[in-house]
Amino acid sequence: MSVQLDIADLKTWLPHQGPLVIAGPCSAETEEQLFETCLKLKEVGVHALRAGIWKPRTRPGSFEGHGAKALPWVQAVKKATGLPFCIEVATPQHIELALKHEVDVLWIGARTTVNPFNVQDIADALRGVDVPVMIKNPVNPDLKLWLGAIERLHGAGIRKMAVIHRGFSTYEESKYRNPPMWQIPIELKRLLPNMPLICDPSHIAGRRDLLLRIVQKALDLNYEGMMIEVHRNPKEAWSDAEQQITPYSLRELLQRLELRHPNI
Ligand code: PEP
Ligand code: MN
Repeated sequence: MSVQLDIADLKTWLPHQGPLVIAGPCSAETEEQLFETCLKLKEVGVHALRAGIWKPRTRPGSFEGHGAKALPWVQAVKKATGLPFCIEVATPQHIELALKHEVDVLWIGARTTVNPFNVQDIADALRGVDVPVMIKNPVNPDLKLWLGAIERLHGAGIRKMAVIHRGFSTYEESKYRNPPMWQIPIELKRLLPNMPLICDPSHIAGRRDLLLRIVQKALDLNYEGMMIEVHRNPKEAWSDAEQQITPYSLRELLQRLELRHPNI
């Protein structure tokens, strides 16, 4: 199987030196929480910010995001930091609202990539729109489903794309929340050598103590960088409290990586 896609250079739409670092809270909880976390991340020197506005929770009853109400917070944070902002979208309506509020980069979540109808609706909504899109792997270990989502967006004219490796769900005992199954993104990169590959160690690990070695491994495999969850006070986070780190810990993590990757 071979796939021929025309993909823009990542640095043309997310400028960075060394590995790309996208960081921010799992969820935008309050305007104050988003501001405090993102201002600290600016000091750490990250290249782009992230936050969940619409949260696709596996089961109901947990925090599902503020939705449109949080988009003006994103706009204000962008203005205060001057950094590009990335959010997850899952429907054409999310896309319309995100673009209206100057979101710079969209991403498709793991629970959306699994559904070709859903991905096609998103692709159709993006036809003729010049916005970068990052595509997370599907929750299940299915390379073709991941490729299919990439092809649907490419078919709609999207050229500024990257893929995010966030691990795959399993029913087996594992130290990971979503085992990385590195062979899958490696195979994707073999099929699409010019596709930027970004690691999401937070959703792979599900716990803080594994983050460094996952990012290390990703960089050793020539990933372009990481999207990592950072919260001003991780223990109090409304979602994914176990895997988030403070801006200070992110700085430490990046310094440790530097020892192995002196060009960072
Ligand atoms: C997220 O990045 O906040 C998220 C919900 O991730 P995933 O789609 O990988 O589960
Ligand atoms: Mn999360």
